[in-house]
Amino acid sequence: MAEDKDELEEVNTENHSDSHKEDDYEKVCYVCRRPESKAGKMITMPGNICICNSCMQRAFDQVEKGGFPGMMFQMPPGMGNMSFQMEDVPNTVPQKQKIKKKKEGEQPVLDIRSIPAPHKINAQLNEYVVGQEHAKKAISVAVYNHYKRIAADRKDGVEIEKSNMLMIGPTGSGKTYLVKTLAKLLNVPLAIADATSLTEAGYIGDDIESVVSKLLAAADNDVAKAEHGIIFIDEIDKLARKKNTTSRDVSGEAVQQGLLKLLEGAEVEVPVGANSKNAMVPLETVNTKNILFICGGAFPDLEDIIKERLNRTSSMGFQADLRDKYDHDPNILRQVEIEDLRKFGMIPEFLGRLPIVFSLDALDEDRLVQVLKEPKNAILKQYQKLLAMDEVDLRFDEDALHAIAKKALKKDTGARALRAIIEEFMLDIMYEIPKDDNIGRVTITKEYIENTGGPIIELRA
Ligand code: ADP
Repeated sequence: MAEDKDELEEVNTENHSDSHKEDDYEKVCYVCRRPESKAGKMITMPGNICICNSCMQRAFDQVEKGGFPGMMFQMPPGMGNMSFQMEDVPNTVPQKQKIKKKKEGEQPVLDIRSIPAPHKINAQLNEYVVGQEHAKKAISVAVYNHYKRIAADRKDGVEIEKSNMLMIGPTGSGKTYLVKTLAKLLNVPLAIADATSLTEAGYIGDDIESVVSKLLAAADNDVAKAEHGIIFIDEIDKLARKKNTTSRDVSGEAVQQGLLKLLEGAEVEVPVGANSKNAMVPLETVNTKNILFICGGAFPDLEDIIKERLNRTSSMGFQADLRDKYDHDPNILRQVEIEDLRKFGMIPEFLGRLPIVFSLDALDEDRLVQVLKEPKNAILKQYQKLLAMDEVDLRFDEDALHAIAKKALKKDTGARALRAIIEEFMLDIMYEIPKDDNIGRVTITKEYIENTGGPIIELRA
């Protein structure tokens, strides 16, 4: 009820003081769910219900033939005196199903001069992302080129290739974080999808095109904005061709096939405000030509494939290396080649559409300590801010930070484990400290982290 009231109020305010805001959105036919750009001019009925001409005509035809049992529509004033009724008509079309209109002669959403140069993108990424120097450099250049490609004219026949990317790195090495930070810095919409939830159309799971639908939602249903956005598909390694299977592979290789046209650039009709197409949701056409696709995955066992290849080539001839030369190389992933990824189970056409491949390194103990304290919004800074609001100075011994990093390493989930570990022991601190106004400083010690002692509590002078 309250919601209905809110919606009515919203409609009223939109009608009077802010009517231009309403004009920014397309009307959607209540019956066939097509937007104005597809169905043509709409007839608006009381309760802000819009009906397209063809549905209206169909309704008239039906009424002439004998009417719909149980349905009565009331025609708006000036539209004749015919009346018919429709049951359970909501007051308004739901807000999230509104589609932004494409305006002619509008300013381009993206101005190439506003895209920072690669070294500037890298410098900004540095404020948030620890280590991963190669990945940061590669992504900065690729993104810069991507947006230059959009701005470039094609009159001279030279078309710059799309710089879709493939990121390989262990869990918790910062793949998602890197993309999120990048989208925020560039102020472009971002959709994050999980490849494991995608299936070939018609099977249980999300349709492949749902990734574009998510991007449209992230762009507030503004098609032009979405067409310059970024789609990050995580866990892409889970789409590898399944070995020794006789059943139809609807969630692996078939999804790779299905993604091909999106990666390349195609016009896709996507549902607005839902993951799958059905009669009740409006559809919108989005061109993926200028959408930057970044795929990420941990690719377990890829190291072995790379090692095998390297050993094969280096164990021949006079300069044969030792067979175990690469066994202890922590950065072996940097030597990845397309051949290795094919062997892993990715199809060549798919790899061909991801021309930029780079890897992220697993974070070691020192890097994890850096992640704790250095980024602009580092976890430690967040806790310090929280306690500063109680006028308590929170400190961490360097030993304590290494103890946290060691615990995180054991979990094998990279930097992801850090927050869970910190939250566990900060719970008591956050609970107890505000009880006593005299406490002025708390120092977290290694002993406290290792459960062999407590934190150092100092009272105010
Ligand atoms: P992945 O996608 O590689 O599995 P995430 O990007 O989700 O890992 O990382 C999880 C969290 O760990 C991030 O939200 C971020 O806070 C932190 N993190 C991971 N790597 C880094 C890094 N290199 N620098 C700073 N923080 C990081």
